[in-house]
Amino acid sequence: MSVDHTPGAVAPPCPRCGAAMMAATVRTTFWRDHSPIIVEDIPAHLCAACLEQFYDEDVGDALFTLAEQGFSSERADTHVLVPVFSLKGRIRRRVPPLPDCHLE
Ligand SMILES: [Zn+2]
Repeated sequence: MSVDHTPGAVAPPCPRCGAAMMAATVRTTFWRDHSPIIVEDIPAHLCAACLEQFYDEDVGDALFTLAEQGFSSERADTHVLVPVFSLKGRIRRRVPPLPDCHLE
């Protein structure tokens, strides 16, 4: 998630935790058929305390419409090449300590 704070805008308190929220422009990622879809320039209310994001109805409608249109590649404003990493072979398991051996 990436956030650009818009100074001076007043937002209602967070419905989740009651803390102050600020107007922000955010970016979010959806997954479709194993591919990430990035939507940016989303006007949102961001909670300063729990970091929850809320969109108003018009913004929700716009996101829903985009999703309904299937995020078709030809309609995208831009494309990015995304590096993909796998943890296969990168996880180093800790060896449990051997129990103390007391030889009599
Ligand atoms: Zn909150």
